[in-house]
Amino acid sequence: MNVSIPAPAAAPDWLAEIQPAMRDAPPSGIVEVFNYGRGRQGLIPLWVGEGDRPTPAFIAEAAKASLDRGETFYADQRGIPDLREAIARYMTGVYGARPGGGAFAPDRFFVTIGGMHALQIAAKMLVAAGEEALIPSPAWPNFAGAIRLAGAKPVFVPLERGEARWRLDPERLAAAVTPATRVIFVNSPANPTGFVATHEELAAALAIARRHDLWIVADEIYGRLTFSGARAPSFHDVMAADDKILFVQTLSKNWAMTGWRIGWLEAPPALSSVIENIVQFTTSGVPVFGQRAAAAALDQGESFLADQVARMRAARDIVCDGLAATGRVRFARPDATFYLFCAVDGEPDSRALERFPFSLARSLRPRNSLRIRAG
Ligand code: PMP
Repeated sequence: MNVSIPAPAAAPDWLAEIQPAMRDAPPSGIVEVFNYGRGRQGLIPLWVGEGDRPTPAFIAEAAKASLDRGETFYADQRGIPDLREAIARYMTGVYGARPGGGAFAPDRFFVTIGGMHALQIAAKMLVAAGEEALIPSPAWPNFAGAIRLAGAKPVFVPLERGEARWRLDPERLAAAVTPATRVIFVNSPANPTGFVATHEELAAALAIARRHDLWIVADEIYGRLTFSGARAPSFHDVMAADDKILFVQTLSKNWAMTGWRIGWLEAPPALSSVIENIVQFTTSGVPVFGQRAAAAALDQGESFLADQVARMRAARDIVCDGLAATGRVRFARPDATFYLFCAVDGEPDSRALERFPFSLARSLRPRNSLRIRAG
């Protein structure tokens, strides 16, 4: 059938035709390095946040059994009840009673496509054009990315790098609050610094949020990957039942499930129908077989997790000792996560180091090349 209106005579300026918030978000440095290194021979890939082991069999088997049962249909947009119950059990086991007392109830948990989608939903619910979100930094770039895609402005608040650990200065955080501020994104333990907030730092951030009536988005996905104790301090330890906090969580790291894309958002149950709607209008839910796998991980995954942490601690020591031996690299030895954030003497531009890996790697590790990404 002919369309009577003439077809475009030339290609439009495609980039000019789309929403500035989407077009102008800076590309992720992580993806840049990942693409640069992908497929190159002889590299030890340390550029994205994942380990070297595939998902353990007991988790994969749960997904296979689900597929064999024919669980291939659309699911409850909030997550299947079995998984929401498994999350509540897990949270009660690891974090004790929920704020305000009693076990965590399944209706606080919303299953998402990885922690990233939980973060995306949180950003969409909390910020819009003209508003600001505070991010202690250096930070994983996706916080700023999610905020920018929502049209809002990320405002970075520098963490302090001490000899032994990174620190959050509450006064600096409070000084960054403006009338446009809506939310503080707190990632602890943190990618890429390994910063682990103390209970005092969490309480101080919460006090600032209460004083200025701000939300907190607490990304505690590395809370179990700590080298001292079973878990890191959490906002769950300091908050009251009605504090305005959303929690981002994921199965990705603890159970070697980065490729499964499954996580959750913890939110007040009063937001249930809104979150259900956002899920419907963005992803329309999470594959059921992945949810079965997630439930298996949460219910039976403690020994695998303990093993992961032991391996990560050993890997941290190898990398830290190796870098320290060069005498040129400065860092605080991380007490959690599998990241290392460092400064190399005489190398002011870490992005340039990414592009010329051999200049750094040769001096640090004579035989193999070591690939390091800027945070
Ligand atoms: N939060 C932080 C701090 C992360 O480092 C990551 C992954 N690198 C995520 C959330 C999201 O993880 P995923 O989407 O794989 O679940």
